[in-house]
Amino acid sequence: MAKRDYYEILGVEKNVDQTTLKKAYRKIAMKYHPDRNPDDKEAESKFKEAAEAYEILSDEDKRARYDRFGHAGVNQGAGGGGGFTVEDIFSQFGDIFGGGGSPFESFFGGGGGTRRRAGGQRGSNIRIKVSLTLEEIEDGVTKKIKVKKQIKCDTCGGNGAKDSSSVKSCGTCAGQGYVRQIRRTPLGQMQTTTTCPTCNGAGQQVTANCGSCKGEGRKHDSETIEIEIPAGVEDGMQLSMRGKGNAGQKGGPNGDLLINIEEKPHEHFSRDGMNIVHDLFLNFADAALGTSVEVPTLGGRVKIKVPEGTQAGKIFRLRGKGLPSVQAYGKGDQLIHVNIWTPKKLNSEEKDILKKMRDLPNFKPSPGKSEKGFFEKMKDYFNE
Ligand SMILES: [Zn+2]
Ligand SMILES: [Zn+2]
Repeated sequence: MAKRDYYEILGVEKNVDQTTLKKAYRKIAMKYHPDRNPDDKEAESKFKEAAEAYEILSDEDKRARYDRFGHAGVNQGAGGGGGFTVEDIFSQFGDIFGGGGSPFESFFGGGGGTRRRAGGQRGSNIRIKVSLTLEEIEDGVTKKIKVKKQIKCDTCGGNGAKDSSSVKSCGTCAGQGYVRQIRRTPLGQMQTTTTCPTCNGAGQQVTANCGSCKGEGRKHDSETIEIEIPAGVEDGMQLSMRGKGNAGQKGGPNGDLLINIEEKPHEHFSRDGMNIVHDLFLNFADAALGTSVEVPTLGGRVKIKVPEGTQAGKIFRLRGKGLPSVQAYGKGDQLIHVNIWTPKKLNSEEKDILKKMRDLPNFKPSPGKSEKGFFEKMKDYFNE
């Protein structure tokens, strides 16, 4: 299903400032908060949708990429960008709900709820580089990459406990994961719910550690990850795969995998946005008499006609032979830039021919209106 526009989700204008954005998100997040809408799947998905929109738009870098490339620029990867879990949202944006200290602190003054978060810290993000050829960028590609990372301990299943008898309910919070406090404020008594400081919200305590991971719930290993790279990406873009980073500590949420795109230089082409540019060298005789030549394209070699009297600097355009947009609408062109080859070495016979040519009437440069200099050509190029 197509994703909704992030600005539309939060009901804000494109040029919204961060303060207004935060307010708009807070309002929606409170409306659809799972504590207020227990067992309401639609509210939960709206809650998650808003969190995703806020995550992108509150980060200047991500927002700039989103403005430029849309959803594909910020949220690609296997599984179409993953989703937030409710726990992710609290661990990432808890501060927006007030409180500030603990991310789990509720802003409802005792909305209550039995939701727990895993006790351990979130795993860190992993950043990798992926180098792509223009051919791979043209079609999009799936890369299998072995990533060294912390993975969940399979002996204990991630909770860090030796066995089931070494997990007991937390005494401080009676297994709830949170504690309630009554605070006096100028507006009267307020009840707040805070993450249990003893168990960090897990609701349980481990009395004996798993021998395999020493109680960490994770260990160093590697994972081969399939990374789906959409067509049309550019050097410097960053894609992310939620939850594919390092495993969290003691069952905490995973970090993300951040993928930086690099473009490999191409033998025949350079890139200019969606267009690719090829330098064609013609000898003077071919340019003057006209000819047909084979040129490389991303889809194989094609023949093009060079009309007689072709000038150096002329640009031929092969429509649709460029790169797709990462937004998936349309394709760029291949631009063929004509260079006239001047011989660097000549034998005496060749010199004689050229000397004869030098004084012929039609060989005198006489640029007319149709012969444009560099600046005129640049203007045309950018206007097209
Ligand atoms: Zn373990
Ligand atoms: Zn506790």
